[in-house]
Amino acid sequence: MKKIKTQDIARLLGQWEKDFTIFVPSRESGVAEMAVWDGKDAGFLDWYRNTVIPPKANFLLNIEKLFGFRRDGGSYKLETPAMADKQQLIFGIRPCDARAIAIIDMVFKDAYEDKYYLSRRQNSLLIGLGCREPYDSCFCTSLGSGPGDSQNVDIMLTDAGEYLFIEEITDKGKELIAKTTGLEKATKEDEATAAGIKDSAAKKVTRQIDTKEIAQKLPAAFENREFWEKVAAKCVSCGICTFLCPTCYCFDINDEMLKGDGARYRNWDSCSFPVYTKMPAENPREEKWRRVRQKVSHKYDFYPRLFETIACTGCGRCIRLCPVNWDITQTLSSLPAGTPVAEGK
Ligand code: SF4
Ligand code: SF4
Repeated sequence: MKKIKTQDIARLLGQWEKDFTIFVPSRESGVAEMAVWDGKDAGFLDWYRNTVIPPKANFLLNIEKLFGFRRDGGSYKLETPAMADKQQLIFGIRPCDARAIAIIDMVFKDAYEDKYYLSRRQNSLLIGLGCREPYDSCFCTSLGSGPGDSQNVDIMLTDAGEYLFIEEITDKGKELIAKTTGLEKATKEDEATAAGIKDSAAKKVTRQIDTKEIAQKLPAAFENREFWEKVAAKCVSCGICTFLCPTCYCFDINDEMLKGDGARYRNWDSCSFPVYTKMPAENPREEKWRRVRQKVSHKYDFYPRLFETIACTGCGRCIRLCPVNWDITQTLSSLPAGTPVAEGK
């Protein structure tokens, strides 16, 4: 383990800036998100708990031009946009959001390999920052993670006030640290301090869900319309919980064209919207209760069946940011007891 004085973060980022486009927590746009570092300000540790816009936006862009096309006689010429060749370094990603990226990786490298997403993934380095003050909406510890979880990052940082402790996790992380100057070697005492900070942060995550119980009850409740109508009653279908969920990855694709010049764009979409999938066909989930059921079942039932992992990290954004205080943990905890569904169904 290494360490650096917290006041020297800007110097550290400055060293890495020549090889990477550096993203740090920023409120510059008015909403907390990972934004390109301005080369000066490293004061984000003073206010940062987590971003509103999850760092999935660094990989699955909110809106992206997939390719351009131009009418050329009787056919079309395609123009594929060049991918950024500079690597991106995301500094300060929270463990839950790093886990979310590992979860959506499974989709984008499944049967169809999405070159846009994957090229950004391969070209990036994640520097995690453990949480010291989790929100009361966080429940990451129920999902096999926690405020100090370093499983999905290249380098893990622990903020100990005067110092940042630095753990190299992957080969990529080790390589970067090996060529970074100005770091001190951490002592045994520092290691104990870092472990203590992680333990104490984990204890602050008091919201819990029972995932075993959910795995049994959720499929059994699928046809329970009464339950889902009650659960969905106050939802206004704004889509915030899905747009800002770090594991939601639905997108729409549109062609825009003007006088022979056009482009194909991909943009985020949400299964909470009544107009979802209206373009190719009809929305199979016209009623709101069906859409709420879909959102919950996709994360806690369908995704685990496909990829053997729950597609929720307990980041709590959907609880914190919902305008009507809809709470996924309440829904999951109020699932009615039902006949367990046999495995494989
Ligand atoms: S944020 Fe709340 S109101 Fe909006 S779609 Fe999600 S649950 Fe419904
Ligand atoms: S469902 Fe809610 S708690 Fe789970 S990952 Fe998405 S935003 Fe976070």
